[in-house]
Amino acid sequence: MSPTMLQISTNGRVQHGQAATAERKPVIQVTDLVKDYSRGDNVVHALRSVSLRVERGEFVAVMGPSGSGKSTFMNLIGCLDRPTSGSYSLDDVEVTRLRPSQLAELRGRKLGFIFQGFLLLPRMNAIENVMLPMVYAGVPPQIREQRARVALDAVGLGPRAHHRPNELSGGQQQRVAIARALVNAPSLILADEPTGNLDSRTSVEIMAILQRLNAAGATIVLVTHEPDIATYCSRTVVFKDGVVLSDQPNREIVSAAATLANWPRSDDQDQDQEEHAA
Ligand code: ADP
Repeated sequence: MSPTMLQISTNGRVQHGQAATAERKPVIQVTDLVKDYSRGDNVVHALRSVSLRVERGEFVAVMGPSGSGKSTFMNLIGCLDRPTSGSYSLDDVEVTRLRPSQLAELRGRKLGFIFQGFLLLPRMNAIENVMLPMVYAGVPPQIREQRARVALDAVGLGPRAHHRPNELSGGQQQRVAIARALVNAPSLILADEPTGNLDSRTSVEIMAILQRLNAAGATIVLVTHEPDIATYCSRTVVFKDGVVLSDQPNREIVSAAATLANWPRSDDQDQDQEEHAA
């Protein structure tokens, strides 16, 4: 495993490798990225020359009105689509030159995805869902379960390893999805409105987990419509009409854990407490 990657240690802690001593290279470097879609006789300019650099350990909120190009940008940096022109380097690999099979391999190895709708497989329990990316990445079977358990513990869901998604609350399902995103120690976690389906308190709980992972070294890019959610990130990039309208560090990063400390308890938290006491 590369020393600059997020690591899951056997004591259940998520930790960063030796990023502090590693040469400072961006995780994402996009230059003059353009994406056009053709629609009938028309061309839609979804991204018009976007240049952006994201350093290791950043927690970036991507905002902007509907149609501004956020999804297009996330699809490109998630290696799910190719730009019309421009360059994209992910962890020092020039992505735009790769063949589809190489893109898929890179995606599995370097990226972790978290979606608004969780996208867990309903017939599999939590630990099986978390093990899935390791199956695709060719991790030996004897290591998969141990690493999946550590990832589930990291999001506080160890006791629910054998529950299926329909036996879990929305917040718990999203925690399983976060464990799944973590389990291959990705260079970059991409979160597409991860709190969009959750109530306010559960949203802050998810942000507390993401802040904890970020503090341990994870680089996260998160799309959100909610200004409150962006206050938990360290930088906000706003898209408009396919360009970056603004790109600012957040001067006052709100601690999600501190916000939760002043909030009434949730059902999930009560359940967790009961299980720990049992
Ligand atoms: P956002 O995520 O900010 O809502 P999108 O990236 O989805 O914005 O869309 C940017 C622009 O590109 C919009 O005008 C949208 O209609 C257009 N667009 C997105 N995907 C496609 C597609 N597959 N085919 C044609 N136009 C598209």
